[in-house]
Amino acid sequence: MSGLSIENLSMRFELPNGTHVQALEDVTLKIEPGELMSVLGPSGCGKTTLLNIIAGFLAPTDGRVVLNGHRVTGPDAERGMVFQQGALFEWMSVRENVGFGPSMKGMPAGEKKQIVDHLLDVVGLGDFKEKAVYELSGGMQQRVALARCLANDPDVILMDEPLGALDALTREKMQSLVLKLWKETGKTIILITHSVEEALLLGERLLVMAPRPGRIHREYRLPFAEMGVDADLREVKKHPEFAERREEILAMIWDMEEEIMGRVEVAQ
Ligand code: ADP
Repeated sequence: MSGLSIENLSMRFELPNGTHVQALEDVTLKIEPGELMSVLGPSGCGKTTLLNIIAGFLAPTDGRVVLNGHRVTGPDAERGMVFQQGALFEWMSVRENVGFGPSMKGMPAGEKKQIVDHLLDVVGLGDFKEKAVYELSGGMQQRVALARCLANDPDVILMDEPLGALDALTREKMQSLVLKLWKETGKTIILITHSVEEALLLGERLLVMAPRPGRIHREYRLPFAEMGVDADLREVKKHPEFAERREEILAMIWDMEEEIMGRVEVAQ
């Protein structure tokens, strides 16, 4: 059995005051190898919890995650993570950051150099290999983070708001890069975002989650990621179905947030 299988996943956090939060309830999902899935939903609907369980950082209270036939029980290089801030090693050069995983695996220097050079060229940092991380802009640091993740050759790449801290123009360029990397590497990618437009652009599958308890609310299959591989993303956004879906999903999330606010007001 190959692919990623999320089976009846529940996560309940017990709080010190004796109450609890049901961050996820009975989430079931099958992701085929090479799929690009974006996850969207109001704050608190369990997106990060879901990603952290797939990464193996958190153990669920119920259910399980199975990757390529084996159960996930902890972190492993087969599941790479890219965070909002690159979480790079500040004291290492760009090259050393990207080569970190291969070094840990004991890869011979020649082979490592080849991989690192190739990946840095792919993410557009061919001229910055020897630079220190602090010399790079936020967008360039995220490019390093993507290259460092790919250097481990993971089966699944998990991205938690990877472009959330970038300015609009850099973000758009990085969205194109994510699509290019997805096509070129054939990796399975799961990407959390708060931006409806980004979720539409970067998800051939788009999962909308709902809060309290965190669960899957709706799922879409979309053509825009495939379109965006070769086209300007601004052109993709002009597609009539894009605007239609954006409005539909914005209204859906808006309604969920209104409901949450309503509940808070009633409780007060
Ligand atoms: P999202 O990423 O969609 O904003 P999270 O997965 O971060 O949502 O959180 C889902 C719910 O679980 C929230 O109500 C959050 O407060 C709660 N939660 C997350 N982590 C913990 C934790 N370690 N302890 C207690 N509650 C938590």
